[in-house]
Amino acid sequence: MTQSDPSAVSRCATAAVHQRLLATAPGYAQARDRSENAAWEVRRAAAAVRPGVTRIPVVVHVVSATAEQDISAEQVRSQIDSLTADYRARNADVGQVPEPFAPLVGDARIEFELASTDPDGNPTEGITRTSTTVAAFADDDAVKAAATGGADPWPTDRYLNLWVCPLVEGLFGYAQMPGGPAATDGVVIAYIAFGTLGTATPPFHLGRVATHEVGHWLNLLHIWGDDGDGCNGTDFVDDTPNQAGFNLGTPTFPVITCDNGPNGDMFMNYLDFTDDVAMFMFTAGQAARMQACLDTDRPGIGTTVPDEVPTQ
Ligand code: ZN
Ligand code: CA
Repeated sequence: MTQSDPSAVSRCATAAVHQRLLATAPGYAQARDRSENAAWEVRRAAAAVRPGVTRIPVVVHVVSATAEQDISAEQVRSQIDSLTADYRARNADVGQVPEPFAPLVGDARIEFELASTDPDGNPTEGITRTSTTVAAFADDDAVKAAATGGADPWPTDRYLNLWVCPLVEGLFGYAQMPGGPAATDGVVIAYIAFGTLGTATPPFHLGRVATHEVGHWLNLLHIWGDDGDGCNGTDFVDDTPNQAGFNLGTPTFPVITCDNGPNGDMFMNYLDFTDDVAMFMFTAGQAARMQACLDTDRPGIGTTVPDEVPTQ
């Protein structure tokens, strides 16, 4: 499929938000340059600093205009659990990675948990609930402030803020890349594409929209390099194949573009646009890039714990 497919252009609005911040947010362009240079340094040295596993506290802001949109805590927890599985390469479908790509699968060494302490130090379930009169939010960050019908973030240097809300037709999520304004830092996901039960609706019913968007929040770029269908764009990751545009649906391996045969596009990567059932891996290079982001852009996020070998 091609970038010009109107059904997919707005599916993830992170690149559009990135362009808007480049034009409007003081210091954002310089901060993005710092991120890219830091990622390059880590890539060159092949050594991120944080040891073990980083556990990231998440606050989920449920912003709803209808009772159906006020999703259950169980559905919220299903998203947190699937995020952790995907970021530890412990997802049930990781075995579906085609054999030539299997050695490239990366454990990002990141786990997620609902925040247990709120910004005032009080116990919390890590979920806030806001009723809104906004029928559908766009990618303009309105959902991130009470003044515009949404919910204010918790301190973005300590929590991953996830907003779940109705989004305009065709938009399923967006993230703010590292280096943007603190007041709008975080990830927005459509309530019909959040978690693995309740209102989660195929083809986005396995929590992978959040996996994709949190990847952006941790400095990952789209795997095709955001160059339309060109072959010159890059995601600045060495072990993801160069590919032309994004892939949609459930492609059949291999999909050859940009002379990238015999294995072709890594369309089963979380940073492509395939359906939730068709994406099941990060690469080791993407994992290193996310760890570099934690080291440099998000030093106050998460606590590190030793990596425990899972019991079989
Ligand atoms: Zn995206
Ligand atoms: Ca490309």
